Amino acid sequence: MDYNSYGSFYSFKKVWLLLMLFGCTKAPEIIDKPITFNQERVDLTLQYMEDRYGLSQTEPTIVPEMVVIHYTVIPTLEKTLVAFDGAYLPESRSGIAGAGSLNVSSQFVIDQDGSIYQLMPENYMARHVIGLNHCAIGIENVGGTADVPLTTAQLESNIQLIKYLKGKYDIKFLIGHQEYTLFEDHDLWLEKDDSYRTEKSDPGIQFMRDIREATSYLDFLELPKEN
Ligand SMILES: [Zn+2]
Repeated sequence: MDYNSYGSFYSFKKVWLLLMLFGCTKAPEIIDKPITFNQERVDLTLQYMEDRYGLSQTEPTIVPEMVVIHYTVIPTLEKTLVAFDGAYLPESRSGIAGAGSLNVSSQFVIDQDGSIYQLMPENYMARHVIGLNHCAIGIENVGGTADVPLTTAQLESNIQLIKYLKGKYDIKFLIGHQEYTLFEDHDLWLEKDDSYRTEKSDPGIQFMRDIREATSYLDFLELPKEN
């Protein structure tokens, strides 16, 4: 088969996804960039788990069963780290402040160039998705706007990181933040307040489609159907 007939069967993207599938077996490089996780943040996390989920724990640990993909809208890694660093939610997030003063964060952030940063222990609870934080590892991608769109390097790193996490934990579900409300009637959903919801569109339909295409062999469970 010459190059041209090969090209007519497979788009460049398909070839690339196949290479990802069979070519990359090594663990991704993960760079430690710890945000502040002092006793104050531990206490705020435990309070959040108690108030929102009815979970009484002595450690802010989770049992990872889900990976949630996000984008930050924030245009740089540096600004993202600043936004997640403090233990308390900043005043600019008044829309979700009624549901607790613990700051938002995620376990991982992927920069525009595909570099993967770990901000906190994988099995510590981060506030990144209503109802599901107690079982969800969050991956934030820097950007996501028209000015700073998500990149192919980020897509590639998400795929590698998801594969790594799936190998380490019993991850059953892979979702985009935009899909989280599908879990409202699921056993994993623990948020007590039916009025506490936010509209999400990250990381976008196409980004999730591309991730799912490249990770289909990991056999994640199907998402609950929309009511
Ligand atoms: Zn999000």
